[in-house]
Amino acid sequence: MTKNAYIRFVRYAVQFLFLLLTLYIGYQFYGFVRHFEVPGSPFVERPSSVDAFLPIGGLMAFKYFALTGIVDPVHPAGFIMFVAILGVSLVLKKGFCGWLCPIGTLSQYVWMAGEKLFGRNFRIKGYTDISLRSLKYLLLGMFVFLIVIAMPANMMALFFIADYYKAVDVRMMKFFTEMTTLTMWVLIGLGVLSLLYKNFWCRYLCPYGALAGLLSRLSPVKIRRNEEKCVHCHACTTHCPTQIDVEAKTVVKSEECFGCLTCVSRCPAKGALEVRASAGKRTAVLKPWLFPVLLVVLFYVVIGIGIATGNWHSKVPYQDYQSLIPEIQKEYANRR
Ligand code: SF4
Ligand code: SF4
Repeated sequence: MTKNAYIRFVRYAVQFLFLLLTLYIGYQFYGFVRHFEVPGSPFVERPSSVDAFLPIGGLMAFKYFALTGIVDPVHPAGFIMFVAILGVSLVLKKGFCGWLCPIGTLSQYVWMAGEKLFGRNFRIKGYTDISLRSLKYLLLGMFVFLIVIAMPANMMALFFIADYYKAVDVRMMKFFTEMTTLTMWVLIGLGVLSLLYKNFWCRYLCPYGALAGLLSRLSPVKIRRNEEKCVHCHACTTHCPTQIDVEAKTVVKSEECFGCLTCVSRCPAKGALEVRASAGKRTAVLKPWLFPVLLVVLFYVVIGIGIATGNWHSKVPYQDYQSLIPEIQKEYANRR
């Protein structure tokens, strides 16, 4: 066991807790929807954090806020969490992907299972890897074009009050609970690819990860290697889940770096690999345990600001859900 091995287990625990929290939020939201679908079902409070599953809405709301200073009243938590993820990425690299994102955690469980099953994970190399990695930037570019560039604020304001947007969270839930055969096969395909290749979704397809990665280039916190103390054991490079050749770098600047600290936790040479925060030419060591603490604190401070300013809970009235949710229920029943 290396001196910093503990941080790996802290990360596993944080990831697991956030996954549990996400499942609980999903379960609570399911209860909320059931109340409007099944007569006699008890009322369950809508969990506002379900808006985290509406990243496109978050991007729209971000632009709308930038132009008007008004927070989207329909899914405000989506906007707040979008800002929290941007903030975390600017300060602590892609720490959200590496520590908090439930999709990243599931992806990790699947590649770990693949490693057990096949004795190793496979790698897509060279130009194929580079071309595939550009897919997530293309997807991000498409959303940025459609929303940030092409969509004017007045069109967004109309979209925010449309029935479709009010219940888009319900549609998102139905996407999974009543998935089409095509969706099921796409998910199975992604599952198989994730079993074979580490973080397939995050590395090649996730536009949110692409945005976090680009912002993470500006982060003052980086993994730094000290050549004089390094014993060239290859442990960091071998265990990096994003295939970064850490042993060949002095500073890890890659936008693929999750800030997972696996490399630091595996390094046997004291002081060879550290998390450092820089300001100008000065750098200071950040204790590995401080990284997740800052990450979680920063994330929840932004959410706390959202709650304190009244921009967390949706303003959609109960009566709207009373008409919208049964309509969506009928729509899905007709598709069966
Ligand atoms: S470089 Fe280190 S912190 Fe970054 S992804 Fe690889 S193992 Fe994780
Ligand atoms: S794990 Fe540490 S000692 Fe081994 S190659 Fe990486 S930086 Fe050097």
